[in-house]
Amino acid sequence: MDDETAWVQAGATLGELYHNIANKSDSHAFPAGLCPSVGVGGHISGGGIRPSGRKNHECERRDPRQGIDGRGSFLGHQRRGGASFGIILAWRVQLVRVPPLATNTQNKPIFARVYFNSLFLGNAKDLLELMNTNFPELGLQEADCEEMSWINSTLYFSSYTNQPLEILLNRTMKYKVNSMKGKSDFATVPLPKSAYHGINERLVKENSEREFVQHIWDEGEKEKKHLKWSREMYDFMEPYVSSSPQRAYLNYRDLDLGFQKKGERSYSRAIGWGEKYFNGNFERLAKVKKMVDQDHFFGDMQSIPPIS
Ligand SMILES: Cc1cc2nc3c(=O)[nH]c(=O)nc-3n(C[C@H](O)[C@H](O)[C@H](O)COP(=O)(O)OP(=O)(O)OC[C@H]3O[C@@H](n4cnc5c(N)ncnc54)[C@H](O)[C@@H]3O)c2cc1C
Repeated sequence: MDDETAWVQAGATLGELYHNIANKSDSHAFPAGLCPSVGVGGHISGGGIRPSGRKNHECERRDPRQGIDGRGSFLGHQRRGGASFGIILAWRVQLVRVPPLATNTQNKPIFARVYFNSLFLGNAKDLLELMNTNFPELGLQEADCEEMSWINSTLYFSSYTNQPLEILLNRTMKYKVNSMKGKSDFATVPLPKSAYHGINERLVKENSEREFVQHIWDEGEKEKKHLKWSREMYDFMEPYVSSSPQRAYLNYRDLDLGFQKKGERSYSRAIGWGEKYFNGNFERLAKVKKMVDQDHFFGDMQSIPPIS
């Protein structure tokens, strides 16, 4: 703890990481995803987002990892898509300092059935003052706020409030069985009202209480109908989000963006998803891929192909 870092092996879950840090220190944390049973291996190598992750984003908080690339050499690079370059064995992560109290909020629906959820690193009094000065339109009230330690906020966000912390160590945690389709966009400028109206209409039409980026439905319901809805919502959002390329989040793998069959390695086809996931870095990553894994040993349906 002296250097405020921790080693985590790629086979650990996020819950195990959170739990082990909390065991050593109540003033340190590593902000990563919401669901404790998600694996560190794919999550960190793909980015990782969560409340407070913007400020303390783990992408900036990783150190040289241990890994083996396609040539069997040591990997010391950062920010690559997992599964394209090699196997990562462990990360040294930079911990962030957290105060004794964090405040979680969930207030009334803002529009349709959309809630404003947040995590504030501080007490409710300070948060209310800040929010009511800067975002009075959200109407945040004391009753919407719940103070707890950072580690308990991991339970809150994974819907395990009031459960013992040891639940974070459960690697086979069962969620309500659902089917899910994930699509993602990056909004780089504030959405205009017309976008909110369109989102509202579509949420009401689908009778959905779930967020539209990850559309979740009960197993057994008609899959085609829900997939169609997700794709229509994605098409509707296109004019309002990043363009040239329209960006996507690597950890919400979306095979609608294209994919390759086993053994295929077409760079021009991979541009379809590669530029969305990696933006202007895609070509450079494909050149690095050529250097470290020209046989494309580490390949999956959307991995980075080698080019010269
Ligand atoms: C219930 C749930 C909740 C989620 N919540 C969030 C969230 O809050 N925030 C967020 O950002 N994302 C979230 N995600 C997305 C999650 O980050 C990705 O699904 C991530 O890829 C999961 O990693 P994994 O190791 O568990 O999965 P895997 O399917 O095992 O791995 C994903 C990819 O990474 C590669 N990989 C895994 N380990 C290694 C390794 N050691 N070396 C090299 N490559 C490796 C795999 O080959 C695969 O291509 C969530 C996913 C689920 C299922």
